[in-house]
Amino acid sequence: MICGIGASAGIATGPVFLYKSYKPVQSAIAHIDVRAIHDSKAEWTRIEQALRQGRREIQALRQKASREVGESEAAIFEAHELFLDDPEFLQRVHDVLDVTQSSAEYAWQEGATQFAREMREIGDDYLAARADDIDDVARRVLRILSGAPDETTPITEPVILVADDLTPSDTITLNKAMILSFCLAEGSATSHVAILAKALGIPAIVSLGENIRQLQSGMQVIINGANGEIFIDPDEETRERYGQQRQALERQRVLAFQCAFQPAITRDGKRVEVVANIGAPEDAAEALNAGAEGIGLLRTEFLFLNHEQAPDEDEQTRVYRRIFAQMGQRPVVVRTLDIGGDKPAPYLTMPHELNPFLGIRGVRLTLAYPELFQTQLRALLRAAEGRNLKLMFPMIATPEEIRSAREQVALAQKNLKARGVSFAHHFEIGMMVEIPAAAVLADIFARDVDFFSIGTNDLVQYTLAADRTNAAIAPLADALHPAVLRLICLVIEAAHQRGRWVGVCGELAGDVLAVPVLLGLGLDEFSATPKLVPFIKQAIRNYRTDEARQIADHVLTLANAHEVRAYLQAQGQC
Ligand code: PEP
Ligand code: MG
Repeated sequence: MICGIGASAGIATGPVFLYKSYKPVQSAIAHIDVRAIHDSKAEWTRIEQALRQGRREIQALRQKASREVGESEAAIFEAHELFLDDPEFLQRVHDVLDVTQSSAEYAWQEGATQFAREMREIGDDYLAARADDIDDVARRVLRILSGAPDETTPITEPVILVADDLTPSDTITLNKAMILSFCLAEGSATSHVAILAKALGIPAIVSLGENIRQLQSGMQVIINGANGEIFIDPDEETRERYGQQRQALERQRVLAFQCAFQPAITRDGKRVEVVANIGAPEDAAEALNAGAEGIGLLRTEFLFLNHEQAPDEDEQTRVYRRIFAQMGQRPVVVRTLDIGGDKPAPYLTMPHELNPFLGIRGVRLTLAYPELFQTQLRALLRAAEGRNLKLMFPMIATPEEIRSAREQVALAQKNLKARGVSFAHHFEIGMMVEIPAAAVLADIFARDVDFFSIGTNDLVQYTLAADRTNAAIAPLADALHPAVLRLICLVIEAAHQRGRWVGVCGELAGDVLAVPVLLGLGLDEFSATPKLVPFIKQAIRNYRTDEARQIADHVLTLANAHEVRAYLQAQGQC
């Protein structure tokens, strides 16, 4: 048995498929004799043909992404397409071809490598991310030039997909209907693939490290996405045990979806709100179909990232209106723009930061760019007229930030009034609790906000000083760590004393294991990826509040996340 980190719960059994996203760089280059003289004109024509084919492939991917995952993923391919037309980049390839008189493959790869390297050397995060896009595009065109098949087509039967890591292109291209589970050497419980696996409702294990080398194509394995275990060539007894567990989980799934539209009420009659996290307008329908009672987190970044310019007020208003219209009078918690640091935008000239997660992120950034902030606030207020908006600010560290953000809201209202435009006047204002300082001072913040939503993905990284993107320390970044749970407890107690409500919108809210703890701590609202909403509702129905309180009280006395998990698993089996 090998073990990684469980990133999406569930059990899968099947054959391993070792997926290597096409990396022909070394192999294709190695056998090219750079001294062989080629006809540069003919080789350039081959490159142009490959670019046309690449463009067609990327456009198809973009449409597929927009249909299956939403506009935010689709925008990544827009950036890829732009590179195929970038005159500076193409000139570089042309120059290499002229100077070396080599083959199209060599010139293409050499030009792309040089170009990406120079972008990385500038030390700007945005350009470094664009360099990753170049690598992705370069691999595609090189594959076309060398006549190799697209590696994603062979998956024609259900498999356990094993890879070092997956790029956004990989995850879109793969035939997801045939993927029973993802197992990755890299990644963390809050990484792109983990969130995607939960959205697709399939088990996933990340951060397997070198253990992954033990997995070979065709091997039969059992995956337990809840605790990160992989059984290689399992014996009869293990197969039998997991077969039964899988059937039990399937029965639970059917039951959860049958009751998805009923409220989540504990055995002693307490009703708890269960809502969904969404990242694009298309996700709203899925949230409703899963029985979500509203939106607990609308990540608005999809409108701003991978675009050459920030969207204007009218464009944003249209998109927000679409989402509000789908949700009717249900609550929609909209988080204002949360970019900066690791999520740079091309139209903001930001200084390079050594520690982007500790830099100009979230509300710090929007307060530093008031025009950007004002445009978004005006659009939101216009779109929310007659709707149930709950406005929320990310990455709040100090009460002064809340006050400044509130001033910005007042300014946006004043501006709309002066323009004679109608807009929402009554709505709640809340903050995300992602920084320990905000949790510790929750009693002070409670004077200035109507609600709190705890972002455990960031709260865990700041509490345990564990970068959420670093696979090497992924086991440390566990939101069930008692230090994180104690902070959640502090927030809920302080908020309730002032009559404020508290939600959790980090990945912890979608973890069935955490339900009794959060319930016992008195959480008012769980916000999870749509597919998990029925399971969370169902789990809430299993408990009495006094039982949950006892479980919560006990875990707060434990020393580490491992002890918390072991205790909760044992409770679940009682
Ligand atoms: C969080 O930090 O928990 C959160 C919900 O925000 P994001 O994952 O978008 O940073
Ligand atoms: Mg966050």
